[in-house]
Amino acid sequence: MSGAWLFVLVRLGALLILGGLIGLYFEQLFAGLFVAALVSIWFHLYHLIRLESELATPRSKTVTVPDGTGLWARTLARIDHVHQRLRKSKKAYRSLLKEVRNSTNALPDGVVSLTNTFEIVRYNRAARRNLGLKAKRDRGQRIDNLVRHPDFIAYLNERDSSQTLVLPSPVLEGSFLSLRIVPYGGDDWMLLVRDITEQTQLARMRRDFVANASHELRTPLTVIAGYLDAMSDEPDLPEPWLRPVGEMRSQAARMLAIITDLLKLSRLESDSSLADEQCIDFAEIIRRTAASAPDSMLHPSVELRIDTAKAIRGNQSVLESVVLNLFQNALRYTPPEGNVTLCWRLLDEGGAEFAVIDTGEGIAEADIPRLTERFFRSDRGRSRHAGGIGLGLAIVKHALNRHDAELHIKSRLGTGSTFSCLFPEQRLCEIDDEREQNAPVTATDPL
Ligand code: ADP
Repeated sequence: MSGAWLFVLVRLGALLILGGLIGLYFEQLFAGLFVAALVSIWFHLYHLIRLESELATPRSKTVTVPDGTGLWARTLARIDHVHQRLRKSKKAYRSLLKEVRNSTNALPDGVVSLTNTFEIVRYNRAARRNLGLKAKRDRGQRIDNLVRHPDFIAYLNERDSSQTLVLPSPVLEGSFLSLRIVPYGGDDWMLLVRDITEQTQLARMRRDFVANASHELRTPLTVIAGYLDAMSDEPDLPEPWLRPVGEMRSQAARMLAIITDLLKLSRLESDSSLADEQCIDFAEIIRRTAASAPDSMLHPSVELRIDTAKAIRGNQSVLESVVLNLFQNALRYTPPEGNVTLCWRLLDEGGAEFAVIDTGEGIAEADIPRLTERFFRSDRGRSRHAGGIGLGLAIVKHALNRHDAELHIKSRLGTGSTFSCLFPEQRLCEIDDEREQNAPVTATDPL
């Protein structure tokens, strides 16, 4: 028997004996026992009611523990101990929560916690500032009811955390935000919001500078190239001038080609949407480009594999520049005894692929990820000798981006390369519309 039981029983027994003795003294044994039992019940009821009122007191208060070593004193002491422990851990939890809140508020980037259905749970100060959230009004609301940009709604629905979305700020005109959702805690999402106005402005300034400088340089260069052409056509040109004029002519032509490519690139980068979108007969572009290989030049044999008549919704001249750049590269970097194949086919998983496959020199594996950087050339000497500038693949990448397409490059040194452009299903169309087929190709986009 535990000590607590023994203590209670001894105390109850002593009380009953005392009650019985007093009852016997007054010749009322049962009345004495009854009163003793009543006293015992009253004692326990009194402490029970006290315990109930102690537990009902506000949590910050301590439980008043009666003196002595009785059962109730020990019970209340235990409750008080648990109570104190709870209060301490709650205090620690509160200060931790405060610290987390302070540190997330100090973040320069916005953070919004969302439920699985994108209702706002909480957010930090930067998110409030960047997205214009209002403390009481917006908590519990769906984020796509507050940021109503269609690109943002489509981005949320995709639930693809590997992608980042750039949006104009819903609060401040001229500002831009980069948004990304990240899953956390099983079912929930975190929306990260970064103000990228400064980077966007810098990129725009760089683009404008390159475009303006190229534009300003083109006119005088065209004049110089024109005079050099005229000089080289001059039959009386003195012999010692023949080589320098020829060299100057080819360098001027090269500079003009660089400037033209830079202008194409800055145009592709700065236009957020494609001008003049139509359903374009892509197979026809491939056929025409393949036929454009100069007869005079010794070049690899060219094969066409056109397995579909599907067309692409996009811009004619931008698509032409994709095919032409990839085809010219294949000719440039494949020896005359090699092969170049141009393929156009539908993919089983949806969408279509345009691939340029060559059996040329190939590219070192380490260089492949850098090929679409401007002015990057895998082998500078060889590329320069072949007439390369280093802008062609950058143009291809941007032109494909404009068509929601991707460029994939596979290559092996000494074996050859495959450049494949993957167009998504939603970009494919049929040229069965008489109006579209016969519509003149407008030359609004000078790419
Ligand atoms: P370039 O005007 O120098 O050809 P690109 O941007 O078109 O510039 O290509 C970048 C570099 O990629 C080239 O300098 C070349 O080294 C490499 N490259 C591109 N296409 C091929 C290819 N089909 N085979 C081998 N190397 C290639």
